[in-house]
Amino acid sequence: MALIISILAGTLSLPTTLYDLPVSNHGARVRLLLYKRGLESAVRVASPMELGGLRGEKYLSLNPQGKMPLLVDGDSCVWETDAICRHLLEKHAAEGDGPSLFPTSLAARTAAEVIVRHHDTYIGPIQGCLYKPAPPFGRFTSRRDALQELVKQLAVAEALADPTGPYLAGEEFSLADATLFPTMVFITHMLPKFEDAVASPAGEAGPRLGPRLSAWWSHTSNADEAAKRVADEIRSGLQPWEERGRWDAMLYAGARDVAPATLFDKILSKEIPSEVVFEDALCLAFRDINPVAPAHILIIPKHRDGLTGLGAATAEHSAILGHLMVAAAAIAKQEGLSEFRLVTNNGEGAGQSVFHLHLHLIGGRPLEWPPG
Ligand code: AMP
Repeated sequence: MALIISILAGTLSLPTTLYDLPVSNHGARVRLLLYKRGLESAVRVASPMELGGLRGEKYLSLNPQGKMPLLVDGDSCVWETDAICRHLLEKHAAEGDGPSLFPTSLAARTAAEVIVRHHDTYIGPIQGCLYKPAPPFGRFTSRRDALQELVKQLAVAEALADPTGPYLAGEEFSLADATLFPTMVFITHMLPKFEDAVASPAGEAGPRLGPRLSAWWSHTSNADEAAKRVADEIRSGLQPWEERGRWDAMLYAGARDVAPATLFDKILSKEIPSEVVFEDALCLAFRDINPVAPAHILIIPKHRDGLTGLGAATAEHSAILGHLMVAAAAIAKQEGLSEFRLVTNNGEGAGQSVFHLHLHLIGGRPLEWPPG
């Protein structure tokens, strides 16, 4: 009460406040450094709801990105997690009792710096593919592609980690550990759910963390009290997600394509020959064996991913559906069709006989309407 009265009376400045929720790996990075440096009492952690939530006018006036975390320190509003970390480390450099988080040797400091950049540039932007309901995930419009990129970037992180450890940049806990550890709590919790989508082409599941990251993860999550505390905080936020079935409808995690294979799989594998007119990484187009017009082409996604028909589409499929439409326009042009019809039959009663989504591109003669 006295604090509130002092603030209202303008006799005391507001305490430095970090607006964040426990389930964010970004805010967890800041909390981890505060715990490691023994600076917990220097920063008050509060929910963004105190400022009306991330979309609230007050919050947006302080952070126009509307994202967490946000640090309000006197007149300074700092966002972007790495900037918040560096602001706090510099401001409180002479306080606290833990490690500085900047390793002593230049080589180790640089190594730590590279890992932080690697995380923020290549891992952070796509990690939403593990829990967001729909794409895009960074620059990826498909969850499969984003997941495979995540695995690739973990392999790069493996190469960047110090071979002898126990921390990422060697003997000392650094900003690199504070950065990667909270994200790795997410990854180790969620990536196994997507094992089908990230299996290698040969089908082996394989370990997702190489020997360096495995040793680091084991040491940090078992022997580092501050890291253990942050992991528990994040998991307490993840548990309700688990209970609410957050992954149940998500492609490759809960939702899987369990419908029977169709003859289009054999056309895709070339077991059944077809007259292909167009092909790219995502789709195949071939002439219908039983044409209803001079031009009759079927356009199909290479990965069915549950799209037995258009009726099965979810937000996950937005990108591939758009891709098929654009491919159809290109194929029509290639076939010299300026007038054509694009049809998809959904369900037996509507004339569907193959349960792998396909667009019929029909043209080359006058087309009646309505089709009947
Ligand atoms: P729908 O009836 O809408 O499911 O469309 C399936 C289409 O696949 C039909 O127009 C068939 O003529 C066509 N089709 C079936 N077998 C083949 C095949 N081996 N090669 C090309 N088209 C085929």
